[in-house]
Amino acid sequence: MKKTGLKIEIYGSEILRTRAASVKTPGPEHRELLSAMARFMYANSGIGLAAPQIGVGEAMIVVDIGAGLYKLINPRIIRREGRQAIEEGCLSLPGVSVNVNRARKITLKALGHDFNPVTITAEGLLACVFQHEIDHLRGRMIVDYASLFDKVRLKRKLAELYRRSENDRLPEPGEEQRKLRL
Ligand code: ZN
Repeated sequence: MKKTGLKIEIYGSEILRTRAASVKTPGPEHRELLSAMARFMYANSGIGLAAPQIGVGEAMIVVDIGAGLYKLINPRIIRREGRQAIEEGCLSLPGVSVNVNRARKITLKALGHDFNPVTITAEGLLACVFQHEIDHLRGRMIVDYASLFDKVRLKRKLAELYRRSENDRLPEPGEEQRKLRL
């Protein structure tokens, strides 16, 4: 992993369960943070990252599923259509994957990297990743979607992560790297 100066927050960290604040007056610091988030996401083989995951409680996300980088401030979903279920992972939940039901197609509004308003329509995997990252801004994580069966299956792993969140190190990438890292 490349050094980025950022550290991933792991399940158990309070900021992951806290609603992110809207960015009221975007400035150069937000632009810099979005760039740092993108570098961090790429360095960790992620395809999405939300600011709370690196300990910043502001509404910012970066997404790149291999078809271009999105850097968004204050993203808000304004339309949802259809259903899809994808097995999702999360950089803040190493070793955990959950089958999550989401909208198949979404439209969102946000401020782009240049702080101009943008409207984006996405479907399939891209729609899934946007929904996953916007969930992070509301303190929501994939384990909240777990079935009762999955919750039992994940109980020990989550307890382990909860303890690990008190340490500072990034867990070694392993099996979960084959899953979506968001
Ligand atoms: Zn995540």
